[in-house]
Amino acid sequence: MYRTHNCGELRMEHIGQEVTLSGWVQRSRDKGFMMWTDLRDRYGITQLLFNEEKSSKELFETARSLGREDVVKITGVVIERVSKNDKIPTGSIEIEVTALEVLNKSKVPPFTIEDDSDGGDELRMKYRYLDIRRNPVKEKLMFRSNLAIETRKYLASQNFVEVETPVLIKSTPEGARDFVVPSRMNQGQFYALPQSPQTFKQILMVAGMDRYFQIVKCFRDEDLRADRQPEFTQIDCEMAFVTQEEILNTFEGLTKYLFKTTIGVELPDFPRMQYDEAMRRFGSDKPDLRFGMEFCELNDIAQNKGFSVFDNSELVVGICVEGIAEQYSNKDIKKLTEWMQRPQIGAKGLVYVKCNADGTFKSSVGKFFDDAALAEWAQKMGAKAGDMLFVLSGETDKTRKQLNELRLEMGRRLGLMKEGDFKPLWVVDFPLLEWDEELERFHAMHHPFTSPKKEEVERMLNGDHETMKRLKADAYDLVINGSEIGGGSIRIHDRELQSKNFKLLGFTPEEAEAQFGFLLGAFEYGAPPHGGIAFGFDRLCAVMNGSSSIRDFIAFPKNNQGRDMMIDAPSVIHQEQLDELGIGVIEMDVEA
Ligand code: ASP
Repeated sequence: MYRTHNCGELRMEHIGQEVTLSGWVQRSRDKGFMMWTDLRDRYGITQLLFNEEKSSKELFETARSLGREDVVKITGVVIERVSKNDKIPTGSIEIEVTALEVLNKSKVPPFTIEDDSDGGDELRMKYRYLDIRRNPVKEKLMFRSNLAIETRKYLASQNFVEVETPVLIKSTPEGARDFVVPSRMNQGQFYALPQSPQTFKQILMVAGMDRYFQIVKCFRDEDLRADRQPEFTQIDCEMAFVTQEEILNTFEGLTKYLFKTTIGVELPDFPRMQYDEAMRRFGSDKPDLRFGMEFCELNDIAQNKGFSVFDNSELVVGICVEGIAEQYSNKDIKKLTEWMQRPQIGAKGLVYVKCNADGTFKSSVGKFFDDAALAEWAQKMGAKAGDMLFVLSGETDKTRKQLNELRLEMGRRLGLMKEGDFKPLWVVDFPLLEWDEELERFHAMHHPFTSPKKEEVERMLNGDHETMKRLKADAYDLVINGSEIGGGSIRIHDRELQSKNFKLLGFTPEEAEAQFGFLLGAFEYGAPPHGGIAFGFDRLCAVMNGSSSIRDFIAFPKNNQGRDMMIDAPSVIHQEQLDELGIGVIEMDVEA
């Protein structure tokens, strides 16, 4: 037997018992005739005591030769510790070891297996099995497991059925690039890995499954950022005979349940905000509501006062940052302006107004606006003495985006994004279509299966181009603390309307038929009204833990180049494999 107990289990009540433990050597303290070693497993750490006087020479010598991460099995008696450690649950006891067996030696690990490791990201990814031995990583994976289990419990209690959908499929248009897999049996043809199980879950509704869910891997070949991974997990759901209202309530229920059961947080009812309102007040469809700093539009009072930059702008809009006027030197403002002018944000400039304690103002546009005019701005923006206003101007969408970046940055700098503070929000009434000026075409704002609002159907079928730009959808996002946690929509379930949508999105009838004929066909056999949602599971884990990166919650994540550092993938494959797939041939021809 390898163990009678685990390393996190023994307490004062076990004193006097003989126990056997197995685990990894964390570290040893050698005091000559006495030696203490911390033994670690998934459950915790137990201190071992090797006493030269009480044990055989051989045992003591073996103990002394133990290195970090060696795997050992020990037997001994539980005794009370002289100096207790109240930081760990087993800190009142230790084991006086009477037998020691080395099960496997370990090389010296390339980084320390401690809560704060000295290993860099790439190194820890390469040796992920060592990284996972560390508490912070292990705990995140255990949290994830728990969250998945609770998700299943809740959805099962609501009559959802878990169905697995295929991984080798045909492209689903969620707006990203597909990963493709060549088919050996059908040379020259390719499967795509699902960007989501979207079409399958809709087909399941046509099939009468009524309530479906799946905790499922999705694949999107996008350029990576800290919070993106080429493969990620969704809690994917679909319901038949539902309204948007019922979907929001069901998944608000799931979210509240998950917060309560896994982190003990009781969330209040989620407020709702229309997409247009979110854009106007925060310049973002996923506003972080942990702090205010709302946008204030100044067109009516700042235009036509002789400042041509404002006069020539579609939008003049600002935020009021409380209490920083005295703190921010000219140099700080210059730096902030440069930060806003980086290509990632692309602001042309940044107008500031300091509201001085004596009621006067200092501003970069003081030449054009006297104190009376600036007082009017301050009043409109709800500013008081000591506050600072930042104002941007330009084309509406771009300017809002830029000011959103500034708002978030100021929120960060002022510590307003408090950990443990959760502000959920439903953003609803998204536009159905997005007009791409450059390509002169429509994109689906959510995806091509999203339904316009009921009252828009008529206008969609018969309206002109401008009407299409203004169509609203029954589409919604769940946002928590500025992160998009989930998104979904009521779907089109009518063949004619779906065809019209494909047409608007630039598909010819033949293309639509070739790509989605199966779905259009299914709509002809009694498709029920249906809708659904998908939560980003990795991101939900991260947000619930106040972490900015989803990578920590993925057992074997990929790095920023999309590489798995541990198994070293992607990699070249053998010529024979290529030949079998009928892929190598093309290249050989070219070379010849
Ligand atoms: N398939 C969508 C997505 O992955 C979610 C949904 O509409 O249910 O974003």
